[in-house]
Amino acid sequence: MDLTTPISALSRVGKTTASRLKRLEIETARDLIFYYPFRYDDFSQILSIDQLKAGLTATVCGQVQMIQNRRSPRKRKLLTEAIVSDQSGSVKVIWFNQPWIGKSLKVGETIFLSGKTAGDLFNVYFNSPNWEKAGGSILNTARLVPVYSLTEGLSQKQLRYLVKLALPLTEKVTDYLPAPIIEENNLWPLERALRAIHFPLTAADLKKAKERLAFEEIFLLQIWSQLNKKKLAEELAPALIFFPAKTKQLVNSLNFKLTLDQKKAAWEIIQDLTKSQPMNRLLEGDVGSGKTVVVALALYNVALNKAQSVLMAPTEILAFQHFKTLKKIFAASAVKIGLLTRSQKFIGAEKVSQKEILEQIKKNQVAIVVGTHSLIQKEVIFKKLALIAVDEQHRFGVAQRQALKAKAALAPHFLSLTATPIPRSLALTLYGDLSLSVIKEMPSGRKKIISKLVLPDKRGLAYQFIRKQIEAGRQVFVVCPLIDDKDASGKRSVLAEFEKLDQQVFPDLKIGLLHGRLKGEEKEKVLSEFLAGQIKILVSTAIIEVGVDVPNATVMMIEGADRFGLAQLHQFRGRVGRGSHQSYCFLFSDNLGPEVVNRLHVLVGCNDGFVLAQKDLALRGAGQIYGEHQSGFFNFKIADLSDLTLIKKIKEQAEKFISNYQLAEFPELAKKIESLGLVNHLE
Ligand code: ADP
Ligand code: MG
Repeated sequence: MDLTTPISALSRVGKTTASRLKRLEIETARDLIFYYPFRYDDFSQILSIDQLKAGLTATVCGQVQMIQNRRSPRKRKLLTEAIVSDQSGSVKVIWFNQPWIGKSLKVGETIFLSGKTAGDLFNVYFNSPNWEKAGGSILNTARLVPVYSLTEGLSQKQLRYLVKLALPLTEKVTDYLPAPIIEENNLWPLERALRAIHFPLTAADLKKAKERLAFEEIFLLQIWSQLNKKKLAEELAPALIFFPAKTKQLVNSLNFKLTLDQKKAAWEIIQDLTKSQPMNRLLEGDVGSGKTVVVALALYNVALNKAQSVLMAPTEILAFQHFKTLKKIFAASAVKIGLLTRSQKFIGAEKVSQKEILEQIKKNQVAIVVGTHSLIQKEVIFKKLALIAVDEQHRFGVAQRQALKAKAALAPHFLSLTATPIPRSLALTLYGDLSLSVIKEMPSGRKKIISKLVLPDKRGLAYQFIRKQIEAGRQVFVVCPLIDDKDASGKRSVLAEFEKLDQQVFPDLKIGLLHGRLKGEEKEKVLSEFLAGQIKILVSTAIIEVGVDVPNATVMMIEGADRFGLAQLHQFRGRVGRGSHQSYCFLFSDNLGPEVVNRLHVLVGCNDGFVLAQKDLALRGAGQIYGEHQSGFFNFKIADLSDLTLIKKIKEQAEKFISNYQLAEFPELAKKIESLGLVNHLE
């Protein structure tokens, strides 16, 4: 076995298990090693049985005196009952619906039990504890036990077993951290840290392991962004001219007044465009804060310079919508706008061929090209590309963006848009190569969205409410976690919900269906009809998460809300409340466990993306939020981004390292940095 061995080649991994692991993005032995636990159960204290009290989290070690399977009184459940004793006494154990335990444990065997005790003063017992035979390798009891995020059909026990199997391979994992850095910061070697992050012997070991792995994550980002900053300083960008009067004219033609934050952001961006050093700026603003129009002002000035710009979006739907929005904003001007996605090619109002649009781009006859990653094909050649703006950029690969950049003789300016709320101080510390504009203020006249967790028996009322909204002229989104029921029966799917609403609940209304398996043209048609108000209710997957802008929609109904993270739910909610009408967000969940209810109530009680991110941080840990959603390939799995002092310290270490050494002296690090790509943008 080596690091690249596919998991299907490991013992006890059949086809089904392999496909479940794949859902967790675990495909090789290496992936297992880097699949870190998200928390640990501390079962390290072993008690004697006479010390047990009801309600403890405890571990005991004893001999099986009796074990049997039987049906519960009402025959609904299969019970496994056992009596386990040590020298101090004996304790009863029950497990539900796990008959194999009754078969694999024999009377007389010595086992560990770890878990919660139940009962009362006179009758203490273990309810479904972890168990393990003593003498083998102890992974699930009597220690700090790792807890991993799972997917349906996979158990903690299975995952622990597999990770343990792969763990000897840690000695083959390359350590990118330079030896002098490891030494000076008194860090553990990678191999040791990787072993301890899964199966720590003590809490102190776990801390050292986390410290080491977190250091590496932030150090890599720091080296990368500092090198990027250096490189940017050497590059030449087209210095554009600012057209204040014409810009003002455009602003005045809008049917709303820009907020102060919008004006300031636009000013900062346009100032950057006038410099001969490439801009590398992040425009941050909560959903609905109005980033698009700010970008439009920058695109406009580029066009007035007779240069070209690109606006990239992560989905065809969003690209199409940006295209429509820009056409509207520039309706009175002569600026020519194109759309280029896999299935859609437009110049202005006209549908054109691929060949036609490529030719016009090449001749600089189109000033602004909106599109998806289709813009990156090598056939797309710009005559004078001066600005690349990327919406919700973390969805693009680095290599792709680099390809786009390579299309220009001078280095184009770069602008990223994001709704992910990273606090300013954190963003500037983390991304040293980056400038930041933040839109905090929401456009005026917006009403606070009313959010509610709707219990199953109130579903009918919610539908009545929706009907009233539609009668008043408004529109409704319904979001479901799945496309069809095949993936997981009983879970809410768009196809099933669509059918139900279309045929039973609202047979008289036009209902639309949107999901990733539709063709680009079909998606565009559905969205256009929704925008035009013909479709009253749009049933969609998470595909509408980013960007979709239909100000007339006032109800966001989220099915299976427990299956989404807070940040994502907030994004969904941001699809409504975009006009002047009072808007509503209804959350539905078939799972109403206390953790779920608690999390959903956080969303209900808070409308501010920045605050929510903080709360999500407390609930789920930093890596989850800024990691997944923000940082793209800088996937923070361990680093605690709320520890700004630590980040600053590592930043200084990286600065010192760069001024003291040549990267080439550390080939492993150099290779890693190279593999991350060097482009001028935020990752
Ligand atoms: P986001 O920042 O989420 O991308 P958008 O740019 O899509 O937000 O803007 C959301 C909505 O708010 C759009 O319908 C847009 O026309 C509108 N809008 C933008 N700026 C203002 C403003 N200053 N006043 C009123 N409405 C605005
Ligand atoms: Mg947007």
